Amino acid sequence: ERERLRAVVNVPSETRDGREVNLYANITSLAELEQALKHGVKGVGLFRTEMLYMDRHTWPKEDEQFEVYKAAAQKLDGQPLVIRTLDIGGDKLLDYISLPEEDNPVLGYRGIRISIDRRDLFKTQLKAILRASSFGNVKILFPMICSIEEVRRAREVLDLAMQELQRAGQPYNTNIEIGIMIEVPAAVAIADLLAQEVQFFSIGTNDLVQYVLAVDRMNERISHLYEPYHPAVLRMLRATVEAARRNGISVSVCGELAGDADALPMWLGLGVHDLSMSSHSVLDVKRRLIDSSEKEGAELLDKLLACRTCTEMKSLIHETKAEDG
Ligand code: PEP
Ligand code: MG
Repeated sequence: ERERLRAVVNVPSETRDGREVNLYANITSLAELEQALKHGVKGVGLFRTEMLYMDRHTWPKEDEQFEVYKAAAQKLDGQPLVIRTLDIGGDKLLDYISLPEEDNPVLGYRGIRISIDRRDLFKTQLKAILRASSFGNVKILFPMICSIEEVRRAREVLDLAMQELQRAGQPYNTNIEIGIMIEVPAAVAIADLLAQEVQFFSIGTNDLVQYVLAVDRMNERISHLYEPYHPAVLRMLRATVEAARRNGISVSVCGELAGDADALPMWLGLGVHDLSMSSHSVLDVKRRLIDSSEKEGAELLDKLLACRTCTEMKSLIHETKAEDG
């Protein structure tokens, strides 16, 4: 089995009928990037920067962050590196920032909400990312966006960061692409408006499922209710992809569902051709990809959209697998 998977690494990343799908890695460190490159990924679709901030007692300085982002950009040698700005709060906490105790941390002070509140820290990270952008194909991704205002406030800080670098004569890519995570139902509802403000969407199915179904993704007592194959989730995915397409921006997926090989035909049906996942999922997804076709994806999507229950959706997903297997 291991050998069969290894043999898949060098095969073109496309369906039987020739539709290319780019598989990217989700990483949290340079070590994970090494791992990902061994799996033949086309780049990094999600660099979760939280780890740079964790297990320490002070904020990482601009230079320290810059060195990491730069090393990643160089290793990727022109392939995309999507760096997500700090996404703490909720389940991810830091020793040196006393976040308020909250009754509902998942609905609380987290992600972009903290960044636009602590502009000094946010600007430091953005400057580090911008400086790294002259060493590769770096893009910036903002997490937990719920409104146009949040995008604009984040951009304001980005503009400040750019001005400061310019004044200091430090180079950066002035046309750096900006994207947002689509992981809150509000963002899906205004996806057509958000698509006019940014260059790309990255769908975060982990949080999206949590917020659409009102099921805390960390609460084991209700984990049976945490169901990505839910008609409500599918409609949200479809709406997001359509909004992106109508506005001519790109859309990728970086939640766990992107790394679920069984979901691959569904992504084909939806017209999603960029998937970012942890390295250990890459070979399974690729194996599924080279066994699939666009036609199969389109047919499956029609059937999934007609489902009224999660149970129906899941049995369809598994039927498709059985036919192929
Ligand atoms: C997500 O929410 O789907 C996501 C990719 O981000 P994280 O898991 O880091 O919240
Ligand atoms: Mg998330």
